[in-house]
Amino acid sequence: MTIETACVIGASFAGLLAARALADHARRVVLLERDVLTPGPVGHTSVPQGRHGHFLQPAALRKLEDWFPGFTDDAVARGAVLAPPGHHSLFSNSEPMADWDATLLTASRPFLEERIRSRVAAIPHVELRHGAAAGLRYRDRSVTGVVYQTGGSATERVLDTDLTVDAMGRGSSLVRWLERGGFPAPAVQRVPVGIGYTTALFRRSPDDLRPKVSCALDQFTPGADGQGLVAVAVYAIEGDRWQVVGVAYGRDRAEATVKDLRAVCAGLPEVFRRATAGEPLGEAEEYFYIDSRRRRIADLDRFPAGLVDIGDAVATYNPVHGIGMASAVNQASVLADSLAGRSGDFLRLREAVIDEAWAAAARLTLF
Ligand SMILES: Cc1cc2nc3c(=O)[nH]c(=O)nc-3n(C[C@H](O)[C@H](O)[C@H](O)COP(=O)(O)OP(=O)(O)OC[C@H]3O[C@@H](n4cnc5c(N)ncnc54)[C@H](O)[C@@H]3O)c2cc1C
Repeated sequence: MTIETACVIGASFAGLLAARALADHARRVVLLERDVLTPGPVGHTSVPQGRHGHFLQPAALRKLEDWFPGFTDDAVARGAVLAPPGHHSLFSNSEPMADWDATLLTASRPFLEERIRSRVAAIPHVELRHGAAAGLRYRDRSVTGVVYQTGGSATERVLDTDLTVDAMGRGSSLVRWLERGGFPAPAVQRVPVGIGYTTALFRRSPDDLRPKVSCALDQFTPGADGQGLVAVAVYAIEGDRWQVVGVAYGRDRAEATVKDLRAVCAGLPEVFRRATAGEPLGEAEEYFYIDSRRRRIADLDRFPAGLVDIGDAVATYNPVHGIGMASAVNQASVLADSLAGRSGDFLRLREAVIDEAWAAAARLTLF
């Protein structure tokens, strides 16, 4: 299948991977992003969760390596940390668990996104365009263009497209735009979660630059009311830093500051104490995740041709399970397969990928 112009709305994790998949099949791919993307591993406004620890599932790393050969080596050369088996640890209520036969790459979320963005932007027929999508153009029963505004101007421009991808994340406007186009609105399933994140950064000392254990997670049994601390994770990341994350159910969190995180880690195994021993780098960041959402596009009896959706725009999962990025990778993979004619209908296959992630995120324990 050859596509003249594809437009991906949203150049974050899922949008970048959709663009990578499309680049093999479209003569031109335009990635439209409303945020100003600063060069370097810097987070952007619309992705506030990026300030928190992001665990990349090992299978997702392998897929990134397929799409971007040399991805891992390049990331490590720039300061990310590779933890083969024996270099990461899992604990349950601070008791060591069996070793996990996996190789993990630890880095901040802005770093991972920027490394992917640099590879996608280097594809000659992919264009990263600054602009906020404001709607879709339809002809008959197909999407034929994306309406957008750029540079703070109210003037609307239209990009004619053969295929449009909604990668606008959790706040996607697609449901409104479908209704405006005379299409039915999909049902949105919501599952209450109510989980709070606190993330702080600490400098790694010179004797801790190649830590034996560079990534660890301690999972806890929450209180009888289901509230309270559920996990603490530490990741050695780029810039010779430790990223330390406390995750708790409920709004009343005891660990909201750097000092609190340190106090919690003081009672945990050695790697947690080591990770919080260095100089704190800035204040702790907080994030509260209210609910998981899944947009049921596949249940609709009418949906425009020339449009697909991907990533958090379609479904979000309780972040403590660390699945969102991996699900985006799997969805982009299914998109690549269906564009290549290696598999059937994208929506049906994509639903299977989301079913799996949705079920995994409903588990009570992390592993
Ligand atoms: C606290 C927290 C921790 C998490 N930890 C993990 C983890 O450990 N591991 C993991 O795998 N996942 C994790 N996740 C999930 C992960 O963050 C998401 O799954 C991932 O960011 C989804 O990427 P996305 O591209 O779909 O959406 P987003 O990252 O939300 O990006 C959407 C993009 O669309 C752009 N956009 C929106 N509207 C428009 C418009 N109209 N025009 C142009 N651009 C637009 C935005 O500016 C943004 O760049 C976590 C989530 C949270 C909340």
